[in-house]
Parts: sequence; structure tokens; C-alpha cells
Amino acid sequence: MLIKLMSSKSSNTLRQYFPFFSNSRLERCVYLDSAATSQKLQTVVDITQQYYQERTVNVHRSSHHLAANVTEQFEQSRKHIQHFIGAKSHKEIIWTKGATESINLVASGLAKSVFKAGDSILISAMEHHANIVPWQQIAQTLNLQLQVMPIDINGVLKLEESLQMITFSTALVAIGHVSNALGNINPIETIIAKAKEVGALTLIDGTQAVSHLTVNVQQLDCDFYVFSGHKMFGPTGIGVLYGKYDLLEQLPPYQLGGEMIKQVSFAHTTFQAPPLKFEAGTPNIVGVLGIGVASEFIQQHRNELLVLENNLYKQLLDTLSVIPQVRLWGDIVNSICVQSFTVQGVSHYDLAVLLDKRNIAVRVGHHCAMPLMQTLGIDGTIRVSLAAYNNSADINSFGQALTECINLLTESATQIKTVATSFDSNQIKRSLTPIAELIKQAKSWDQTYRQLMLAGKSLVRLKDQYKTETSAVHGCESQVWIRCFINEGSIVLEGDSPSKIVRGLLAVVFEALSGKTAHQVLMFNLADYLKTLHLGKHLSQSRGNGLSAVVDKIIEYCQLQSTNSI
Ligand code: PLP
Repeated sequence: MLIKLMSSKSSNTLRQYFPFFSNSRLERCVYLDSAATSQKLQTVVDITQQYYQERTVNVHRSSHHLAANVTEQFEQSRKHIQHFIGAKSHKEIIWTKGATESINLVASGLAKSVFKAGDSILISAMEHHANIVPWQQIAQTLNLQLQVMPIDINGVLKLEESLQMITFSTALVAIGHVSNALGNINPIETIIAKAKEVGALTLIDGTQAVSHLTVNVQQLDCDFYVFSGHKMFGPTGIGVLYGKYDLLEQLPPYQLGGEMIKQVSFAHTTFQAPPLKFEAGTPNIVGVLGIGVASEFIQQHRNELLVLENNLYKQLLDTLSVIPQVRLWGDIVNSICVQSFTVQGVSHYDLAVLLDKRNIAVRVGHHCAMPLMQTLGIDGTIRVSLAAYNNSADINSFGQALTECINLLTESATQIKTVATSFDSNQIKRSLTPIAELIKQAKSWDQTYRQLMLAGKSLVRLKDQYKTETSAVHGCESQVWIRCFINEGSIVLEGDSPSKIVRGLLAVVFEALSGKTAHQVLMFNLADYLKTLHLGKHLSQSRGNGLSAVVDKIIEYCQLQSTNSI
């Protein structure tokens, strides 16, 4: 799809349908993370509340009138989704808990019924983990080949080379309609057509596509199409698997029990026909009702959504293009309103932390597409993902905040006014040390982060030879490595990260712990200590705030030392 440059100004006429934006109890948040999950429609909230407050029954089981009504509405949702993606029959729509489960269902079914040794499965280099790992694991188990369609230096699919890879040994081509990490719209029509020529099956991961593009699975002629409700203004925990009916008939059931069973005795069981054959156990009833409502909304407002999104995307590109350090990734012509970028000399983690302090919600890191980042030779990007409920003011706020954050992160050390700190890791520290003191004295978040970044300078950088898998700390959106060892009975800590803020956090933690015995470290309440410095946030379990993984690694080491010394 060519992004047309619309002349009308972006407005926010659709914002009124999303209670998130009118909730006065919320601090105003500029939400630019819709590719992670979209905000929910008021009608989705209403139907959920109504079900739990007034109509809680099970579906497809009881015969009383309440159950019959809700079952009818449940099946009506299936028809809404059928029309939403242009399927031939509502029987081709299977409820799952999300795109991930939909892909796993197909992978497990094909592994049992279709794939044979020597077959190859073709995916692209920009796939979400959910569309890589199920195929990879099955390929390993069944001795199949997993092949990867290549991308260019910007992350755009190399179509000619990809088409050449589709051969008579290709059993399945599994590709995203739209890349979640880059926003690219892939030329799936051409890929599906080539797959048909050689008799290969096709699975399209439409998770990032359905709320932005009109999808017609019959026109596409794909065999499977999957997506999740929560990226299309609907509820979490509900997803769709579309499959051509004859293929669904051939696939064995995925899970067993509940309404997917037709007849059972201790000797033998028969199963329902699709779609119920794949819907074991009590389904996510509110999820199904909610996704139905969301799909109707999108269909009704499709044109308006498209115009708003195109205008917003253009404004976003204009905003990013004027910042010289910004490098855009992905296809900026064939794209939905999602843009990934990096900033020269600035860690994406640091940017995300500072943007968050300005109430700008973006996602940074690998976006569940680690192999894509490896292929592009980067450790992550900053991703702005828009939806039609965003407005011009959101992008203006983002642009201003981004410039401020880049300035803060690139200003030279001499500009940072502070008291010099010296830090000798071999000395036992006082409970309140200079770094901690300075951070406590900071009057604003910007000052806190300035002090942190300065503190990071006192960290002796880990030599490259020590940046190994053993010293790597996983669970943070930034790369982090730490080494712990005991010297003359005291713990010595060394660490590194491309992020200035993470290096500062390491310095704070190391300052508090260095020189203590392993036993003393285990007695020290680091979480409380960081809270007194107002740095507790960085201990959250969220991947973006991975200091807790650092702390866990130190504690694990000290526990081992304590056990060994008993
Ligand atoms: N595929 C793509 C392209 C995605 O963006 C996502 C989620 O981010 C998934 C699959 C997995 O979706 P879910 O977590 O809803 O199962």
C-alpha cells in the first residue's frame, strides 16, 4: 500500500470512543505503543462489564434461555470476524487465545499430518518470535529445513531472492503481513501466488495488519491467517485462526476436552467438525464478544482510520527526519503507522527511560524479533506505533521530548554540573556514599539521570573479553554484563552496558555492595536502598527495567559463595 500524503490535518475524532483518553484520573500519557497493545473501545469495556454483571453463563452447554442468548451472540462474533477478513464461512474462524496460540495450533497440526522429512519451511528475517520458534522447533524434531527469506540493510524484504527460495520442497511459507518491529507491509500477495505454484501452504501472521489494512483472505488465497484481539482495540487473551475449511478438516485437534468432543466412551472418542474441533475447554467468552464488537467498529470506520493514520504517519516521519542523529529503519513507503529508529550515539534504553519520565510511552529493544536485530546488526530500536486515536499534539509532544532527551544524553560531561565522585571498589563503603548522596539531592528527574550518567563514568568498563554469555544479564532491554568475584573475602563487582543510565545504576549498586562479604550482601536490602534513592522503578519485573536481573545475578553468586563456605 502506498502511503498517500493527505492534505487534511490529523484530527482526533475517533479518540472519543476510547475511555483511556478521557480518564481524568490518569496523568496525560502520550500513548505511542499501540503495536504492543492498542487502547480499548468503550463498547468493548461495556460488553465485558455487561457479561460479568448481567449475563454470566457458559456457551454451547446449558439449554436455559440466558445460555442460549449468549451462545447466539458468541457465534454472531464468529460471523463478524468472517466478514471482517472476508472468509468464505464462519466455520473457518477458530477462537484461540492469541496469534501465538493460533500459530502453535497450525504448527502442531501440520507436524502431525502434513510435514515429512526433507520438507522445508520458509519464514522471513523480520518475523516475530511467535512466527519463528514454533517452526524452528518442529523443523528440529522432524528433520525439516527452516529457511529464511532475506532483507536488505533497511529491513525490507528482498522479494526477488525470496521468491526464488520458494521451491517444490517448500511445504509452508509463514510470513507476517506487517512487521511488528518495522511496520513494513510485506508483498504477501506475490508470495502467496508463488507458493501456490509449487503447492506450498501459506500462513500469514496478520497480527499487526488487521486494524490498519483491509484484509480479504479469499482474495489473498492464503491457507491460514492469524491475529490477536488486543492489537485491534479488543480484549487481551483472544485471537483468531482462519483456515481454509478442507485444511481444518485434515488437521488433528490441538487440545482435548470440552465441547470439541462429539462422542466419548472409555474405548473411543470422536470429535466435532471445525471450528469446535479446535476449541477445547470453556472459551474466553468475553474475549469473543469483545473482538466481535471491535471488528465491527473497524469495519464501520475503516476509511476514517486510514486517513487519520496516514496523516499521523506523515507527521511522524517529518518529525523524525529533521533530527540529524536519527536513523530510520524499515520501509517508509509501504508501511503502516509504525516507525522504528535508532539515534546515533544514544542507547535506546536511555531514551526510553527519559521519554517515560516525560510521559511518552514508546517501546524499545528487539520487539520480540531478536533475529531481525541480529540481521540488521543492531541491539534494538525505538519504536513509535500509532493508531487513529493519536493526534497531532501527541506527535508534537513526542518530537519535543525526543529532542530534549537526545540533548540531555549527548551533552558533554563538562556541562554536567556535579561534585566529582571517586569510587574505590575495594573499600568498604559507608551506608550513604557520594553517588547515593548526589542522587538523593537531585531536584528533578533530569538531575537524577544526569547524576546517574555521571556515576556511570566511575564504573570501570568491562574488557570486551569478559562480555560473554556467562556475564550477560538477560531480562533488560539494554545489553548488560556483570562479573562478580571474591577478593580477600570481599565481593568485587564489575559491569558494563551500552546504556549510560544502566552504567549509572550499576555504579550505584556496586557502590552499595562492593567490599561486603557474600553474607553481608545477602543481608543487605538492596530494593529498599534503591527505593530511598527513588530508583526502585528500575527494579520492576518489566523487561525494560532489568536492574532486578542484575541484582538477582549478584544474589545468586553470593548464595553460591555462602553455600560453598558452609
Ligand atoms: N505476531 C506479531 C507480528 C506480533 O506483533 C505479535 C505480538 O506482538 C504476535 C505475533 C504475538 O501476538 P500475541 O502475543 O497476541 O499472541
